[in-house]
Amino acid sequence: MMRIADALALSARLEPVSDSARLDVELLLCAVLRQPRSYLFTWPDRELAADQRQQLERMLERRQQGEPVAHIVGHTGFWTLQLEVSPDTLIPRPDTETLVEQALERLADGPYRVLDLGTGTGAIALALASERPAWRLVGCDRVAAAVALAERNRQRNGLTNVEFVEGNWFEPLQGRFDMIVSNPPYIDPADPHLAQGDVRFEPSSALVADEAGMADIRWIAEQARACLKPGGWLLFEHGYDQGEASAQLLRRLGYRQVKTVRDYGGRDRITVGRWPGDEE
Ligand code: GLN
Repeated sequence: MMRIADALALSARLEPVSDSARLDVELLLCAVLRQPRSYLFTWPDRELAADQRQQLERMLERRQQGEPVAHIVGHTGFWTLQLEVSPDTLIPRPDTETLVEQALERLADGPYRVLDLGTGTGAIALALASERPAWRLVGCDRVAAAVALAERNRQRNGLTNVEFVEGNWFEPLQGRFDMIVSNPPYIDPADPHLAQGDVRFEPSSALVADEAGMADIRWIAEQARACLKPGGWLLFEHGYDQGEASAQLLRRLGYRQVKTVRDYGGRDRITVGRWPGDEE
């Protein structure tokens, strides 16, 4: 016999592999029971059926091997949305919600064209689309399976002002944009953190960039100049130690109003710049 309270106590088994063991078990249990988290605290004495116990056991074993919870349950929360995830692309992270906030702060709702480069699950484009119904968003990714995943996430969340296209960075795109956002790969290939935690299960194409992690950021900042409307904004995510290099890069390329913003953990995470225009 196993009650919900007993199942939650199994988080002890995940302590050695996860710094969010308790939350991990809660999310696995929610997936097994097909219930929201509040259910776990309302019904601690409910018993799991035999097949539910077995399913939970298999999930715990996978988590003990290091597999991310999002891959085990097949989805994750980002902003106000539920998104399907897969090993084809990065798992959306709370840090990236800072990028969404910064983008929303800079443009009101209106008929603006906004581009998300390397969209992956579509997380950023879809979050922006949900908050700005009049924006027309394009999410672009080089990985066909990511584009298909992003499209499923669009449908799942019932958003109609986003389109996903396949291609390498700016290649498939035409015209200029009012805003370009991106969470590109930015980890230094030599970073030891690539051998730890969830990133081991994510594709290196979504994580790693040459030039100590700055190659794709540099490429985006250079190319965006020809793809932004005058007065258009560029915002991208980067590593905690890449704020200064990112800001310098944007200034050197002629961007104005350059600013680096911290994530919820207090680390430099987003850098913003504005392409010169009349409206300044
Ligand atoms: N922030 C992620 C990590 O360090 C990496 C995301 C990315 O490379 N864009 O785990």
